[in-house]
Amino acid sequence: MKIVIKIGSSLVTSEAEIVDKEFLKKISVQVDKIRNLGHEVVLVSSGAIACGMKAWKLTNRPEDVEKLQALSAVGQIGLINAYQDEFKSLGLFAAQVLLSHEDFKDTIRSKNIKESIKNILDLGAIPIVNENDSVSTEEIEFGDNDQLSGNVAKLIRSELLIILTDQAGVYDKDPTSNEEAELLTKINLSDKDSLEIELGDSGKYGRGGMKTKFLAAENFLEKNNKIYIANGRADNILMDILLEKEVGTLIKLAE
Ligand code: GLU
Repeated sequence: MKIVIKIGSSLVTSEAEIVDKEFLKKISVQVDKIRNLGHEVVLVSSGAIACGMKAWKLTNRPEDVEKLQALSAVGQIGLINAYQDEFKSLGLFAAQVLLSHEDFKDTIRSKNIKESIKNILDLGAIPIVNENDSVSTEEIEFGDNDQLSGNVAKLIRSELLIILTDQAGVYDKDPTSNEEAELLTKINLSDKDSLEIELGDSGKYGRGGMKTKFLAAENFLEKNNKIYIANGRADNILMDILLEKEVGTLIKLAE
């Protein structure tokens, strides 16, 4: 099966390091296992701006688009190199794919992306997709990788989209400000509004939050595919999802 895994900015950096190598190791080892089971894996990784911010020791995300572009240009190198190092130690190759949201609105460009991802997978490498932040003001102002991962998963007709974040999944209330918040383990997309989920804000490094994850779900979900939103730092999270253990939040269309 084709699996798209989206990795959020808050996971790829740590307090102590620019790139959280321990986290990338953990993910790469799991990706290797999944590939060995015969699945094709595409990663969509945020973190270019976050890594740039860390390198410049910035604690607040700048608002200035030019500054963000420059930070992403620096950060993307460190990010992709860190993935490359981890995959290399497992005998694998990472392949960088930088995309614009606009690309998906154009039939020929969409077809090219689909072909390119297929070619990389056929080569046996692991596509690592991010927004083309350094040259596009549009990506930085409007884009987000949750929706990018939904677009990629839809385009390549992936059966499973896994959105890894720093929370255990979708809660009924914002868990960062509410102790009674409960994890929702399964959501039918059509019930979303009646559940009155508090969608919360994005973290300090990226964009997103739950709102963009649901927009990705609305775009991607069809009868025969599904999305998990889960904690990327949890041990064996990818394998647990494949084994359909009750982890994170499973989002589907109504059965
Ligand atoms: N493309 C951005 C980056 O790599 C992240 C976008 C997002 O947070 O969704 O920094």
